[in-house]
Amino acid sequence: MTTTNPVPHPAPGKVYLVGAGPGDPGLITLRGKYLLEHAQAVVYDYLANPKLLGYVPKTAERIYAGKKGGGLHAYTQENINKLLVRLAREGKMVVRLKGGDPFIFGRGGEEIEELVSAGIDFEVVPGVTSATAAATYAGIPITHREYTASVAFVTGHEDPAKKSSNICWEKLATAAGTIVVYMGIKTLPNITQKLMDFGRSPETPVAVVRWASTPQQRSVVGTLATICDIVHNADIRPPALVIVGEVVNLRNTIDWFEKRPLFGRRIVVTRTREQASELVAQLEEYGAECLEYSTIHIEPVDDFTLVDRAIGEMATYQWVLFTSLNTVSHFFQRLAALGYDSRLLAGTKVAAVGKATAEALHAHGITADLVPQKFTGQGLAEALLSVEVKGNRILLPRALHASDILPEMLTDAGAEVIIAPVYRNVPQEGVKDELRDQLLAGSIDMVTFTSSSTVTNFLAMIEGGGAGELHRLLDQVDIAAIGPVTGETVQKYGLAVTVQPQRYTISDMVQTIVAHYRNKSGHAA
Ligand code: SAH
Repeated sequence: MTTTNPVPHPAPGKVYLVGAGPGDPGLITLRGKYLLEHAQAVVYDYLANPKLLGYVPKTAERIYAGKKGGGLHAYTQENINKLLVRLAREGKMVVRLKGGDPFIFGRGGEEIEELVSAGIDFEVVPGVTSATAAATYAGIPITHREYTASVAFVTGHEDPAKKSSNICWEKLATAAGTIVVYMGIKTLPNITQKLMDFGRSPETPVAVVRWASTPQQRSVVGTLATICDIVHNADIRPPALVIVGEVVNLRNTIDWFEKRPLFGRRIVVTRTREQASELVAQLEEYGAECLEYSTIHIEPVDDFTLVDRAIGEMATYQWVLFTSLNTVSHFFQRLAALGYDSRLLAGTKVAAVGKATAEALHAHGITADLVPQKFTGQGLAEALLSVEVKGNRILLPRALHASDILPEMLTDAGAEVIIAPVYRNVPQEGVKDELRDQLLAGSIDMVTFTSSSTVTNFLAMIEGGGAGELHRLLDQVDIAAIGPVTGETVQKYGLAVTVQPQRYTISDMVQTIVAHYRNKSGHAA
C-alpha cells in the first residue's frame, strides 16, 4: 500500500497535489491524510475543510490560498503556481490541498504544468469530487439502470449566453442522462433556459445541493422550469451543485443524510478537552453539528505527597475507589512514574463508578470488583455499605476539589477513608465572544453538560453583562444534563433542564437528545 510508504524528501522538494474531498473531513483518502501528516508546507483552498489541517505537523507552514467565489482573491492562480515552486525549491515536502478532486475544475492541471516546467517533482492524489458527493448525500444515485447510463460534469462558470462558450449546450442538453453543473448558481437561469431550448423537457427534475456532505448541507428540488425561483426563494448561494436528470426523483426514496434525527441541530459540547471526543462522535453520528468548548482542562496536582504515600502503603488498603475516568488515568500515571504497575493492586479490591471508568481500568488489566448500578458517588457508597466496609481502609484518588458525600457516608459506616488528590480542574481563561455571539444570534439549539463543574465554568465563561445576561443568552436554548447532580446545578442558576437521561452515561444522554428532537420535529421515536 502506498499510504504507508515513508515519504522521501527529495531536493529540491516535491509537491503533492491532494484532493481534500467535498467537505466532510472523513472523505479524504488515506494517502491524502498520510501526506498531510508528513507535510512541511500546506497550501490550502477555501473548499478544503480546515479541520484537515489538524493532521498537519505543528511545525509545518500553512498558507491559505483561497479564491472565494466572487470575493477578494487572496492569491491569483499565477501567484499560487509561483508559491508552489518557491516552497519546493526550499526543499520542502509541500501538500497542495484542493477541494474535491484536484483535476476536476480545480486548475490542478495548470499547477502541475508549472511544476513540470520548473523541473519540480510531483504527485497527484485524487479526491471525492463534490458532484458525486452532492448526489450521494442528497440521496440521488448519479446513475441508475432504469433512468440513465451517462453522466456529464460541466462547469457553469462560463456563461452559456456567451457566444464563446466552450460547452456545446445544444448537444449536451439531450445527450447525457444526468448533467451535473459545478459553479452554476449565478448562471442558473441561462443554463436551465439553454437546456430547455435545446430539447430537454421543462419537467426534467433538478436538485441543487449546497455545502454537500457537511452539517450545513441544504438541498432543494424542482424542475428545469421551476428551479431558478426555488433557488432564489431559498437563498441558495455558492458553493452548490446543480444535478439535472430523472435520477433526482429517487431522492424521495433514498434521501438519508438530511433525514438523520439531529441533522441541522447545533449542539455545544462542554467537556474537558480530554473527554469531548466520545460525546461529539456519538452526536455527529446522528447528524448534529457539534461546537466544542472546553470550559475546564485537567492537570495533575502540584503536590503528590498524599497519593505517593498511599501508593507506598497500597497493601494496607482493602479497597481503592475510582469515581471517574480522570482518576483512573491520573492515578495510573503516578503509579507508573513511581515505577509500579497494576500488580501493586493485586491484594486490593477495586470499585468503579460508570462503564467508561470500568473500561479504563480494563485497559490497565483490572476488572473492577464492584460497579454500582447507580453511576454516582452516592450509588457507590450504598453499594459498598451493602458489602460491609466497617474497619476497612479505603483509598479514594480524586480531584483536588470534589463532593464529600462518598467519603462521609463511608466514614459514618465505620470505614477509614484516605482521600488522595491526583488531578485538578483548571478553569479555561477568557470570555468566548464567539460563543456569546452565536447564542445571541439564536443559532444554537442545545448546550450539553456532563458534570456540575462544566455548568459552573461554562456559565462563568459566557457571563459578562451582569444579572439577567444568562437568561438572555440561554432561555431559548435547550439544556441537556447528564444526571441529577448536574441537573440541580443547572437549576441552581435559574435555568431549566430540557433533557436528562435515566442512566448517567454518554450513550444514554445521546439517546435522550435524539428522542427529544425526534418528538420535536414530529417524527415517531
Ligand atoms: N475540484 C472541486 C471543484 C472545484 S470548482 C471538486 O472536485 O469538487 C468549485 C465548485 O465546486 C463550487 O462552485 C461548487 O459548484 C462545487 N462544490 C465544491 N464543493 C462543494 C460542496 N461541498 N457542495 C456543493 N458544491 C460544491
